[in-house]
Amino acid sequence: MEPDTWKYQRRRARLVESLRVKGITDEGVLEAINRVPRHRFVDPALVARAYEDEALPIGLKQTISQPFTVAYQTELLGAKAGDRILEIGTGSGYQAAVLCELGCTVYSIERLQPLYERTRTLLNELGYRVITTLADGTDGWATFAPFDGIVVTAGASNVPDALLEQLALPEGDDPGGTLIIPVGGDAGQTMYRITRTGEKTFSREKSEDFLFVPLVRENG
Ligand code: SAH
Repeated sequence: MEPDTWKYQRRRARLVESLRVKGITDEGVLEAINRVPRHRFVDPALVARAYEDEALPIGLKQTISQPFTVAYQTELLGAKAGDRILEIGTGSGYQAAVLCELGCTVYSIERLQPLYERTRTLLNELGYRVITTLADGTDGWATFAPFDGIVVTAGASNVPDALLEQLALPEGDDPGGTLIIPVGGDAGQTMYRITRTGEKTFSREKSEDFLFVPLVRENG
């Protein structure tokens, strides 16, 4: 596989500038994107397009998300160094790598075995320490809950209760955990930011529309 070179670094810097133009303002997020070698996360045949702002196929009818979408979800998440973040839908591992660059402790769940295995190897190789598992992410990951943030990178038909339950409760100056989830049907989804405000209370904010591959529930 191709190592990181000045050619990729230059393309990446241009991608970051285009994300700025499209409205991403969080410098930490932009810096993280500037550090992750996205060309290592795409199909070797598509390396030339790795720094275009587009989703690309990664096999098994799945995609590596568009950089803008990754930046947008990460900005909404508001994650900071030391936060414990759960990602649903490891896919290529790109979003997980961006979260690592932000200094988060990252947990990530994938339901397709070949992707789970390939991406676990890649993340290791690149030195990204992501705790991964092969499972249905709609159940969350109770073993490691609660989480400061949960980011769902596939389109959900509704908000799984397990994810709400696994958000951290607010404590002192710390706000409760945040869930970023695209909700809708196959034709498109609306991004929601849901924040835990108490034992059984949550605040919901609606934002822009996106198009994700579907979040597949194993048990109905
Ligand atoms: N975050 C990924 C995006 C991958 S696309 C990236 O940065 O590349 C979404 C991924 O979610 C796919 O790999 C798909 O297999 C996975 N997925 C869909 N439903 C899931 C579920 N219920 N649990 C875990 N992963 C799921």
